[in-house]
Amino acid sequence: MTERPGGQSAPAYGDPLTAPFWEAAARRELIVQRCQTCGHYQFYPRPYCLACQSDTVAWVTTSGRGAVHSMTTVHMDIAPEFTPPYLVAIVELDEGPRLITNIVDGPCRIGDRVRVAWKDRDGMPPLPVFRPEGADG
Ligand SMILES: [Zn+2]
Repeated sequence: MTERPGGQSAPAYGDPLTAPFWEAAARRELIVQRCQTCGHYQFYPRPYCLACQSDTVAWVTTSGRGAVHSMTTVHMDIAPEFTPPYLVAIVELDEGPRLITNIVDGPCRIGDRVRVAWKDRDGMPPLPVFRPEGADG
């Protein structure tokens, strides 16, 4: 169970490999795995290091900052949580891993600096999204 502000408990979310990510998301903390043997960062989570195959991977907190590697605007209504048009992007974190996410509070261009924000969802941990650095909020 994850303790929420105000003392409410949330049910566990994710599987044993991904649950730490969602528990951190509930605290609005963006974490990725880092190999304790060679220092390689990786996301999404895996039981071993992609660089050296060590199983000494541990979760570490990121800066929550990065740059837009690629992005597109979705104009079709395909996901109930998102109202088109919206931006889907690949953000490269300063630590190295890339993740597929949304850009909010745009406009935004490839290469722009972004920082993590959190999209609240009913009954689920908040979703990490990104906003351009310098955007309010
Ligand atoms: Zn490694």
